[in-house]
Amino acid sequence: MTNSRGRPEEKGRAAAGPRDDKGQDEAHRAAARREADKAEVDFRSLGLSPATMAAVDRAGYEIPTPVQAGLIPRALKGIDVLGQARTGTGKTAAFVLPILERMATPGRGGSPRAIVLVPTRELAVQVRDEFEKLAHGSGIVCVAVYGGKPLKGQIDKLAKHPAVVVGTPGRVLDHMSRGTLSLSGLDIVTLDEADRMLDIGFRPDIEKILRRCPEGRQTLLLSATVPPPVQRLATRYMHNPEIMDFSTNELAVETIEQRYFTVDPTRKFDLLDRLLEREQPRQAIVFCRTKRGTDKVFERLSRRLARRGERRGERRERGGREGSEGSQAVACIHGDLAQNVRDRVMRQFREGTVQILVATDVVGRGIDVSSVSHIINYDVPEFCDDYVHRVGRTGRMGREGIAFTFVTPEEGTQLTRIEIRIERLLERDEIEGFEAFDRRPAPAPVEQVPTAYGRGLAEQPQQEPAEKPKPAASLLGKGRGPKRHRRAL
Ligand code: AMP
Repeated sequence: MTNSRGRPEEKGRAAAGPRDDKGQDEAHRAAARREADKAEVDFRSLGLSPATMAAVDRAGYEIPTPVQAGLIPRALKGIDVLGQARTGTGKTAAFVLPILERMATPGRGGSPRAIVLVPTRELAVQVRDEFEKLAHGSGIVCVAVYGGKPLKGQIDKLAKHPAVVVGTPGRVLDHMSRGTLSLSGLDIVTLDEADRMLDIGFRPDIEKILRRCPEGRQTLLLSATVPPPVQRLATRYMHNPEIMDFSTNELAVETIEQRYFTVDPTRKFDLLDRLLEREQPRQAIVFCRTKRGTDKVFERLSRRLARRGERRGERRERGGREGSEGSQAVACIHGDLAQNVRDRVMRQFREGTVQILVATDVVGRGIDVSSVSHIINYDVPEFCDDYVHRVGRTGRMGREGIAFTFVTPEEGTQLTRIEIRIERLLERDEIEGFEAFDRRPAPAPVEQVPTAYGRGLAEQPQQEPAEKPKPAASLLGKGRGPKRHRRAL
C-alpha cells in the first residue's frame, strides 16, 4: 500500500493502529501543555476549589486550555460570557467546571440549578459524559434530555431532581410544557454551539426557554462563530456579557492538511475506495450530503470491505503475506436512524471498534473523537460553515489530521467559496486514473463572492450557495424552512 504523498509523518499516521487511549490522553495533555506554555497559567490559578481541583486531577487535565483559562475565572465571578470557541479546544470543561463550583453554594431552591442547551442528541450525550467524568463522586447528578428517546425514562430521571440538565431545545421545551421540568431554580444557563442551534432553526425554542429562566441567572454562551443572530441573542438575554474570542485566526486549525480531488460523479465511490486503501486511516469520517446517499455509500463500502477481507483471509490461508492492514469496520449515522442505533454507533466509533463512519452533517459539529485522522467530504457540503465544522472533527486538541474533498467538475464554484471562507487554498491531490477535467472557473474577484458571517476575505454577510434557490416560503408552509434543514441531517 503506497501513499502517493509518501512523506514520513503520513506513513506514521497510516501505520498508527486502532485507537490507543493512553496515547490519546498523552496527546491531549501535550497539546494543552503547549497552549498553556503560551498563556502561562495553571488550573490552580483559576480560583477552583480543592474539590473541583481534585476532579480536574482525576480527569488527568494538567494545564488549562486557553478557553478554560479565559472563561473559568470569569464564570466563577458570576459574569455573563460570550465565548467564541471551536470544539476540540476544551470548551466543555470550561463551562462544566464553573457549574460544578456553583453547585457547592446554596441555590434558589427548585431543580435543576443549571441547564446546558445543545444542538444535537450526540452533543447532549457528550456533554453529559464530561459532567459525569468531572462530577464523579460529588453526588451532583446530570441528566440528558433529547428527542428520539422515550419521554418516560427522562421523566423518571427528572423526577429525581437532578442538579444539572443537558438537552436539545425541542425536548427541553417539551418537558417544560408537560410540567416535568421547571426552570425556576436555575442559577446558570449555558448555550453550547449557539450558532449551530440557530442554524438549525432552534431560535424560537431557545428564546422561549430563556424567557422562562429566572432574571438573575448567569448565562454563558459558546459559539464557533458570532454572526448577527448570535449577537442579537446575547444582547437580548445576557447581562453585560464579556465577549471573548478564543478562535484562532485560521478557521480550520493549522494542523489540518486540506486537499481536494476532482472526480466525475460516477467515479466517486471507486475514488473513495482507493483513497481509503492508500491512506489506511486510523479513523475516518466520510461525509455525505443526504441520508439516502449516506446509506448507499455505507452499503457499498461494507460490501467492498467485506469482500476484500474475505480475499485477504483466503490469501492468508494460502500462506500469502496479505493481512497486515487489518480489516476496517464501517458504520453509518444519520438523523433517520433510531436513537439507540445512533448511540451505539457513536459509542463504537469512540471506542475505536468502528474505523470508518459514513455520516451526514449530524456529526459535523461538536462531536469529539480525538483519534479521527481523516475527514473525507464525499459530497461537497452545502454550506461553507459545514465544511469548517466537518474538517474540525479531525486535528482535535492539536493532533494531526487531514481532510479530502471530492469535487465534481460542476462544483468548482463551491470549492472556491470554501477556500474564501477558510482564507486558504486547498491543495490538489490525485490518484491515477481518477482525474476529472477541472472546470473550475477562474476565481471571481473576492468582493463579488459571498462569504459566511463576514469572516471571509470580503467581510460580507453569509449568503446561501447561488445554485440552490430556496423554495418560496409559501411552498414550504409556515415555519417549515428550519425543519427541512433539520430533517436533512
Ligand atoms: P471539547 O473541546 O470540550 O470537545 O474537548 C476536547 C477534548 O479535550 C475532550 O476529550 C476533553 O476531555 C479534553 N480536554 C479538555 N480539557 C483538557 C485539558 N485541560 N487537558 C487535556 N485534555 C483536555
